[in-house]
Amino acid sequence: MVNLLQFDRSGLADFCAELGEKRFRATQLFRWIHQHGERNPAAMTDLAKSLRDRLAAKAAAVPLPVASEQVAADGTIKWLFDVGDGNAVETVFIPEPGRGTLCISSQAGCAVNCRFCATGHQGFNRNLATSEIVAQLWYAEFELRRRLALAPGERAVSNVVMMGMGEPLQNYAAVVPALRIMLDDHGYGLSRRRVTVSTSGVVPMIDRLREDCPVALAVSLHAPDDALRDELVPLNRKYPIDELFAACRRYLERAPRDFITIEYCMLDGVNDSPAQAEALLALLRGDDSPLRPGLSCKINLIPFNPFPDSGLRRSSPARIAAFAAVLQHGGIVTTVRRTRGDDIAAACGQLAGEVQDRTHVGDRRERSTAARAEHRIAAPASRRESAGGRGTERTLP
Ligand code: SF4
Repeated sequence: MVNLLQFDRSGLADFCAELGEKRFRATQLFRWIHQHGERNPAAMTDLAKSLRDRLAAKAAAVPLPVASEQVAADGTIKWLFDVGDGNAVETVFIPEPGRGTLCISSQAGCAVNCRFCATGHQGFNRNLATSEIVAQLWYAEFELRRRLALAPGERAVSNVVMMGMGEPLQNYAAVVPALRIMLDDHGYGLSRRRVTVSTSGVVPMIDRLREDCPVALAVSLHAPDDALRDELVPLNRKYPIDELFAACRRYLERAPRDFITIEYCMLDGVNDSPAQAEALLALLRGDDSPLRPGLSCKINLIPFNPFPDSGLRRSSPARIAAFAAVLQHGGIVTTVRRTRGDDIAAACGQLAGEVQDRTHVGDRRERSTAARAEHRIAAPASRRESAGGRGTERTLP
């Protein structure tokens, strides 16, 4: 059975052509699925009977099974979707006055292994298919419309952020058609400004996204220098900050907004000192290097959301406020993310789902933790002090 959630409109036109139908029928079919939430071709009453019959024999819009649902005290909803073979991914709906934001997963697990992220701790199993990415939006939109008894034409989901489990730009081939379905006026009709891809910095794919489907871009930075970012976001060893910022500046030439959102997770004693705030400001404004211009950006400070065995702590509110003040006084628009849904582990960085890790990330983490501990014991005091960069304290366990 072909899953119709797999296709953007041009893919659906190809599928109609394969069935011996006119390509323009795809638009009707697409509207039934993504504007009316209809799964069953037999119920798509304005399609020719012959097409309905042919579709019903071969295809349907097949949603993902919901394994569980949790609702937080603040109204945030977290769904766990079963994607088979013991894997499950999480999707979070965040209601706010005047808008509803859906945080979508792109992979079962994640291979980037960021130090502060529950998904990264679990390792990686596989990329999600386009149908599995779109199914998260399809279910949330039509389930919420039904529960909230929305009038025809009213939407439940106004914004999508690809910030759930996974690095979306490491699943590029599936993510781009999913983005096109979200943006399509015959689908969900979301504006490019309201769809955000968040990346840890896959530089070549940032360039491709700029050409193929430039939506709003968020970058997980989390450190003011390469030495610390190498440890927090291991992908930095491949694409260091200078290369990442150069890609961001190229992206801005075609982006729907004139800024990049910089995400910065506030980790107590690791990346949250006043000196690190100054260093970050200099980095963003380009003050620290005559060769590198600044980056047009807004910064979002995210209080770390603890998860078991992270070994990290959330920065105190006073420390976050002081960090934010340095950036604001330096002219960078800075917000502190309000933690949503933390009573159901739905907050940023807490999504874990269920992942049958094929990358043995846990084993590698144990080995590297042991190696770091050995190194700390062996290294002379002066070297330990300077390892933090700019003389700042770092206590990565
Ligand atoms: S923060 Fe994003 S890129 Fe890093 S491990 Fe978590 S899901 Fe992957």
